[in-house]
Amino acid sequence: MDSQEAKKIVCGGGKELLRLGLVAGTWGNVSCRAGGSAMVITPSGIPYDKLEPDDMSTVSIEDLTFEGRRPSSESPMHAAIYRTRPEVNAVIHFHSLYACTASVLGEDVPPYLEDMAQIIGPSIRISRHALTGSPLLTENVLDALSGRFGALLENHGAVCAGRDMEEAFAAALILEKACQTHLLVKTAGGGRALTVEEAEKYRDFYLNSYQKR
Ligand SMILES: [Zn+2]
Repeated sequence: MDSQEAKKIVCGGGKELLRLGLVAGTWGNVSCRAGGSAMVITPSGIPYDKLEPDDMSTVSIEDLTFEGRRPSSESPMHAAIYRTRPEVNAVIHFHSLYACTASVLGEDVPPYLEDMAQIIGPSIRISRHALTGSPLLTENVLDALSGRFGALLENHGAVCAGRDMEEAFAAALILEKACQTHLLVKTAGGGRALTVEEAEKYRDFYLNSYQKR
């Protein structure tokens, strides 16, 4: 995809994040691949409702040099996901209520429901806390996101990925619901999660049969 199209998609994604209530103010960020070794990402510190496509930053995923406005401080994490996950073309980082609350528990979210198992994977792993923008945060997130389309960042929020922006948003909404379910199940005194085998079958079905992209 060319850079102008990527800017429109990322700008629209930023506004969608706000509309869905997944972020407040300028927190969170959205990116997509823009051909070659470039990604387009939301800029640092501009409210989403004021964003125009030309405000987006174009960043090299190899060395983080950029054109346009100063990119989000979480750019290193987005770039590392694109470098290590060739199937991923869109990434969303957000601070929604239930994901943030679940991130404080410091534990993986089990696959209670088949939608989560399909779209995110057989668990939502927790990435150990590290400072925003630090190399350790990137390293921890890559581990937690391995083989998954979503992960929690301890005491922080969540990151979701997809083969396109639509899929990354589907993962974000399902992750938020899975975290809400996790908190409710714990409050109710516990419940049955899918077995690893069941969850992996759902994931495999989703990736290989349900939505061939
Ligand atoms: Zn954040």
